[in-house]
Amino acid sequence: SAALAFDEDGTPELRVMVRDISERKLIEHNLKDSETFKRSILDSMPSQIAVLDHQGVIVAVNEVWQRFALENSGKPGQHARNTEVGVNYLEICLASFGDIDEGAQEVHEGILAVLEGRLQSYSLEYPCHSPNEQRWFLASVTPLGIEYRGVVITHTNITERKLAENELRIAAIAFETQTGMVVTDANAVILRINKAFTKLTGYTEAESLGQTPHMLSSGQHDKLFFETLWNDLINTGYWEGQIWNRRKDGNIVVEWLAISAVMDAHARVSHYIGVYSHIIQNLEAIEEIHRLAYYDPLTKLPNRRLLQDRLSQALAVSTRNRLYGAILFLDLDHFKQINDTRGHEAGDLLLIEVARRLRNVVREVDTLARLGGDEFVVLLEDLDTDVEVAASLVKQVAGKVLGVLAEPYLIHCNEQDYNFHCSASIGIGLYIDKLTPEELLGHADLAMYEAKSGGRNALRFFDMTMQEVVTARTSLEQDLRQALAHQEFKLYFQMQALHNRRIIGAEVLLRWAHPERGLVSPRDFIPLAEQTGLILPIGLWVLETACAQLKTWEAVPLARDLQLAVNVSAHQFHQECFVEQVCAALERYAIQPDRLKLELTESLVLDDIEDTISKMLALKTHGVSFSMNDFGTGFSSLSYLTKLPLNQLKIDQSFVRNLGVKHSDAVIVQTIISMGNNLGMEVIAEGVETEEQRAFLELHGCPAIQGYLIGRPVPLEEFERQLNR
Ligand code: C2E
Ligand code: MG
Repeated sequence: SAALAFDEDGTPELRVMVRDISERKLIEHNLKDSETFKRSILDSMPSQIAVLDHQGVIVAVNEVWQRFALENSGKPGQHARNTEVGVNYLEICLASFGDIDEGAQEVHEGILAVLEGRLQSYSLEYPCHSPNEQRWFLASVTPLGIEYRGVVITHTNITERKLAENELRIAAIAFETQTGMVVTDANAVILRINKAFTKLTGYTEAESLGQTPHMLSSGQHDKLFFETLWNDLINTGYWEGQIWNRRKDGNIVVEWLAISAVMDAHARVSHYIGVYSHIIQNLEAIEEIHRLAYYDPLTKLPNRRLLQDRLSQALAVSTRNRLYGAILFLDLDHFKQINDTRGHEAGDLLLIEVARRLRNVVREVDTLARLGGDEFVVLLEDLDTDVEVAASLVKQVAGKVLGVLAEPYLIHCNEQDYNFHCSASIGIGLYIDKLTPEELLGHADLAMYEAKSGGRNALRFFDMTMQEVVTARTSLEQDLRQALAHQEFKLYFQMQALHNRRIIGAEVLLRWAHPERGLVSPRDFIPLAEQTGLILPIGLWVLETACAQLKTWEAVPLARDLQLAVNVSAHQFHQECFVEQVCAALERYAIQPDRLKLELTESLVLDDIEDTISKMLALKTHGVSFSMNDFGTGFSSLSYLTKLPLNQLKIDQSFVRNLGVKHSDAVIVQTIISMGNNLGMEVIAEGVETEEQRAFLELHGCPAIQGYLIGRPVPLEEFERQLNR
């Protein structure tokens, strides 16, 4: 080869290159006609190839043909038997006919047709399965040329293509299901839809391809919804959820949509597949369901679910704009009483009126919700960047709310007018960020309880100490669960005596020797034990320990006649097996039943009067006696008092404390004493601390006393020393 080139000065220069091509020339020359040349071409083909003469006799075969014949001889497959050079292939085809070989007859016909010039060429796809694999072949027959009469026959393995086609067919059928399907590219441009998609959305394939699913947008979802959807898709490759779409005819439908991302070999999203299952088609039905799902049917206010949505949004917004917001957690005071005494219908009307008044007080933008029962929540957003300003704004609103709710209610119900008074207790939780809706509600709820225990018709702000109290309670609860097993409980005994100081018995009082806190008062853990149900095993332990003590005392002359008073909690008393439990303990320790006195509270009795009476009567027949603790503090009424088989009334220490201080309490004490005497019950006063109180009680005919004046609750050893003294 030659080339014109230029040197640095621009002077032209002719360059000539000589290459040795003799080798190439030699191959070309030798191969052109040689057998080797033809062979190597034939053998390099992946198909089985044979050349047949005009009678169908095999003249030449390639290597693949030979190998196939060798590997498959004796196995099914017509082209596999005796197909070496010199054999008549047409005869073999005929011999195979009727055998398991498929296609042999057709191939035979095809070869004849091409040989006789009836066909230019012939081809046939046929299955040729072997016992351990599925195979398909393509047979093709072409004339040898003009000079020679004969044909070239090839068999090509097309199994891979066939399998792929089958897969595609299955996929295509699967795609046409009852659920709407859409395939998009990575940019959400629609590439394919199925018929169900058209049925569901009203959009045909022509209208859909090239669009994005945005064409279905109903406007019902906010930005946050789609942000979450895409976040999930990007992070996990999957999203599913309920989505509101607009059909082509404008109707809104609710659908369940599941989207999966399809990844390519480089783990990049190549497609998205969306599957729509149709849920509801009727807009009115949807609205009704929406209303039922998110609104309280009675007051028409948003319900807890909707409130939670709004709270999440409000919390997200406040994190962004740094403005404080607040919720008021509002609970009506003594609503249950109105419901119980005037019926649910009146209660419902009252709630409706409360909702109406609340709506009038809060701004249009504030969310007002009913959580259920007599609990309402007001959400006040975007108050101020300054926490104190925000707090004072909330306080104003809460004050107004208390004011309007405390006004008298006139309820017309069952053709009668009722006048009610009903106040509310409000807990306030301020928020700015880093809170979940549940935490915020929890804060305000806690503050509401503070407002209630502070005397109701009041408002309280949540503060961290409240949270600490709750946290401390949780850890106390954990310890309480271990206390029985760790034998941390102890019984203290507080004497009960006559005025001449003769001891008639004792009240057993539970103490918890906590490994870190020291002695814990029952006032601090009994309520917790009640709420957690732990009072059941604990109460049983107290009962059994007291019985065991009574048994031991039977052998001690000074103690033999003492009676032990055991406090029983409501939960414990109302369990089904309580009577059996007590009887079992009496039997196990074989003690005289009248040595055991059970102290009940008024609230226990009122919880379920019928159950109380029947259990008391059952135990009474076994000889157990009963004392009414805290008598006079609750809704004591003569009517139930006469029905209860009580042995003793215990005058509550709150009245005793006020003897000589508050005249009305002295009157109550006198009344209880004469009531007891008239009903044939013993009377005992507890919490006697001073000589004046004792003297008053003695003067007015209360024979027995209990209190610090004569003895504090003490451990067993100390109590026994007191006895001896
Ligand atoms: P309670 O049954 O009214 O018990 C009387 C409480 O008043 C005891 O408090 C006692 O220590 C205290 N007390 C006695 N005399 C005086 C006095 O003169 N002045 C003053 N200020 N207080 C006096 P404690 O032991 O702290 O028990 C508190 C409550 O815990 C009991 O009230 C009872 O309701 C409950 N409790 C105690 N032990 C048990 C128990 O074994 N089972 C159950 N279910 N509750 C128990
Ligand atoms: Mg008691």
